[in-house]
Amino acid sequence: MRDLIIIGAGPAGLAAALYATRKRIDCLVISKDLGGKSNYSVHLPESEGPGAIRADELVTVYKNRLEYLRHSHRLAGVKELTASDGAFVCTLDDGSTERARAVIVATGTHLRRIEVPGEKQFLSRGLGYSSISYSHLFAGKRVFLAGDTDRVLDSTLEISIHADAVTTALLAGGRYSPDLLARVGEIDRVTVIEEATIKEFRGDEYAREVVVSSSAGEQTIAADGFFVEPEPEPNTGFVGSGIGLESNGSLKVDGENRTGVPGLFAAGDVTGNGYEQILVSLGEGAKAALSAYRYLLKTGNRRE
Ligand SMILES: Cc1cc2nc3c(=O)[nH]c(=O)nc-3n(C[C@H](O)[C@H](O)[C@H](O)COP(=O)(O)OP(=O)(O)OC[C@H]3O[C@@H](n4cnc5c(N)ncnc54)[C@H](O)[C@@H]3O)c2cc1C
Repeated sequence: MRDLIIIGAGPAGLAAALYATRKRIDCLVISKDLGGKSNYSVHLPESEGPGAIRADELVTVYKNRLEYLRHSHRLAGVKELTASDGAFVCTLDDGSTERARAVIVATGTHLRRIEVPGEKQFLSRGLGYSSISYSHLFAGKRVFLAGDTDRVLDSTLEISIHADAVTTALLAGGRYSPDLLARVGEIDRVTVIEEATIKEFRGDEYAREVVVSSSAGEQTIAADGFFVEPEPEPNTGFVGSGIGLESNGSLKVDGENRTGVPGLFAAGDVTGNGYEQILVSLGEGAKAALSAYRYLLKTGNRRE
C-alpha cells in the first residue's frame, strides 16, 4: 500500500505531486491526462498580449517534472474511490486497483456544451465557457454572455466594468436571483435577453456573431468575445457513496484542504471554490499535499 494517491494532474494535482515528491512521500498520480484544463485557452481577436495569465508558463514546469518521474504516475481513469479502515482503494478503468493511506482528489470540473452549430468550430477562437480569466481584456469592447444560472449574471457584473457593451442571454428554463437580475438591469451598458435560445455561432477565424431567438424574435448579435457560462460540473462521479459530496457534486474542504473523511483531501476546481484559476489550483494542490504529509506523519511512522 502506498502513502498517497493523487487523482488528477491538472494544476492542482501537478502541484500536489511536486510537493509530495519533495517530501519523499511514496506517491502515485493517477490521471487521464497531464495538465487538465490548463491545456486550453481562449484566443481573442486583437487581444493576445500580456494581460492573460499564461497556462503554459505556469504549468509546464510541473508537467515536465512528472513526465520525468514516470514511475510515479499512471495515465488512467479512476472509476471508483472507496474508503475503509483507514485505507483508500482506487479502482481504475481497466479494473486494476491501487491502495493508499491518503488520497488527494484533484479532478477538476467539466462544462456542458450547448450543442449548436458553430460551437465546436469556434471553441477557443473567440468563444469560451468561462469569462473569469478574460474579463479585463475587454476594455472598450463588446461581449456576449449566455447562461442558465446566477453565474452568468455574476459574469455580466464583472465584464460590464470593462466592456463598452454586454449582451446577456438568459437561457430558457434557467433560474436567476431576482436581486442580481435587478442589479444587472440597472447597468446601461448591459442588454438582457430573457427566455433566450442560442441558434448558431458564426464567424471567420474567430466567432464574430451569434444568432439568438426569444419572444422578441430572432436576432443576430455581433461581439468581440462570446462566453456560454453553464454551471461547471465537478468530476466526482467515481467517488463512492460513503464519501459525502455537496449537492452540486463538489468535495467540500476546510482551510487545510481536508474533506470530512480523515486522510481524504481535495484541491482545485473540484472543491467548488468558484475561482477557476490556474494559480488558485496550484496553491490548493500544494496545500493539500502538505496537509496530507502532516496527516501521514501523525498516523504512522514512515520509517517503521
Ligand atoms: C478554455 C479554458 C480557458 C481557461 N483559461 C484560463 C486562463 O487563461 N487563466 C487561468 O488562470 N485559468 C484558466 N482556465 C481555468 C483553469 O484552466 C482551471 O481553473 C484549472 O485548470 C483547474 O485546475 P484543476 O487542477 O483543479 O482541474 P483540471 O485542470 O480540470 O484538471 C483535472 C484533472 O483531473 C483528471 N481527471 C478528471 N477525472 C478523472 C478521473 N475520473 N480519473 C483520473 N483522472 C481524472 C483530468 O484528466 C485532469 O488531469 C481556463 C479554463 C478553460 C476550460
